[in-house]
Amino acid sequence: MRESDRNMYQRKKIDITLADLAQGLKFCAKAPPREQLLKEIEHLWSDGRAVLPTLSVRTGFDLLLRNLDLGDRDEIIITAVTIPHMEQIILEHGYTPVPIDFDPQDMQTSAALVERAIGPRTGALMITHLFGTRQPLDTWVDLAREHDLFLIEDCAQAFDGLGYAGDVNADISMFSFGSIKTATALGGALLSVRDYDLAERMRAEQATYPVQDRRVYMNKLVKYMGLVGISSPERFSMMIRALQLTGRDYDMVIRRLTRGFSGPGFWDKLRHQMSAPHVAMLHHRLMTYDNNLLERRAKAGRFFASLLDPHIVHFGWRCARHTHWLFPIAVSNPHEVIVALRAQGFDATSGSSTLVALENNSDHHELDTELSKRLMNNIVYLPISQHVPESEIARCARALNAIARPLEIPAPRHYQFRPASLPRLPEVIG
Ligand SMILES: *Cc1c(COP(=O)(O)O)cnc(C)c1O
Repeated sequence: MRESDRNMYQRKKIDITLADLAQGLKFCAKAPPREQLLKEIEHLWSDGRAVLPTLSVRTGFDLLLRNLDLGDRDEIIITAVTIPHMEQIILEHGYTPVPIDFDPQDMQTSAALVERAIGPRTGALMITHLFGTRQPLDTWVDLAREHDLFLIEDCAQAFDGLGYAGDVNADISMFSFGSIKTATALGGALLSVRDYDLAERMRAEQATYPVQDRRVYMNKLVKYMGLVGISSPERFSMMIRALQLTGRDYDMVIRRLTRGFSGPGFWDKLRHQMSAPHVAMLHHRLMTYDNNLLERRAKAGRFFASLLDPHIVHFGWRCARHTHWLFPIAVSNPHEVIVALRAQGFDATSGSSTLVALENNSDHHELDTELSKRLMNNIVYLPISQHVPESEIARCARALNAIARPLEIPAPRHYQFRPASLPRLPEVIG
């Protein structure tokens, strides 16, 4: 089969159906009861903490930092891998991020390094759950109590059905319904806030934001109807060919299409409230989301993982829960792997989610993020999901095992893997 004739399994399916999008257009036409639906959403999501629906996690995080009082403590300890905007928001509010490496096997932010980084200037601790995994919060809850830190949990990638709104002991848990996220509402976020006073201050400030013009949301619905419409392997391949014929880099085109708040006016775009149809869509997604999808996706991920050469680092294989929002691996030859897999019809990519390893620019010169940087420089996201038949998942694993070379991961200074995670990869992880 010629390479150009083969269908391509897409790297990241948008997790919404054409029927949902059509429902969204109906919401645009008929002015749903915004306030009432917001109340219902808050009720659905509540775990006893205050619930704040916002336009995005970034909107909510910005609201948080505008209203959080950490006294003169200006450092926020943060898991070293996240999206650049989260770092930007921290900096915008005059805080210094102190990034901390994580263990790729169980995705735990290094407790040894966090303890080392805590000092008189530390005001908050921000734990990010990556790729569909979820790290237990107990250690962090204890540490936060001990040192009087505000505990932030970034659950943007961790949606796991209505029963999981984060850890009730976190001061804030933030879930995203952005367009590439699980159960997407093409934007929107839910924040659970422990301190009701703080939540009220954030709510009051949000109430001063303009409501986003519903036409913005409608345009988005129409755009995603196109994207979801092309998401069968056959049509996706046609689009790639068309883009290649016109000399365009389809990787860039797709990344740009699915990126929120791009272009100038970032802060202005961020500081809006969801429009009525947008709120109705978020409500609709919460009410109708089929958790079987998550289970099927998790199962596809586990099946693929079981076929992988044990020397290939695949993120989160030791996690108790991994919904495989993404399936990333880290190898020493990412470019070769991507080329080989694409030739086999698997749309592997090094950058499907715009995640980055943060630089340590804090005064904690004893810290570095070498491990995170190395992992992110060598990451390959694989198009493994419930949409790929088992036989094709197996074919992808064979192709990958044949080409992938293990990544040597140096034990970074002071880094300590916990004993529980040692047995499987001792030869590649120090
Ligand atoms: C997507 C994402 C965000 C931002 O979510 P939005 O709702 O799009 O603002 C924040 N953190 C992480 C780790 C993410 O993946």
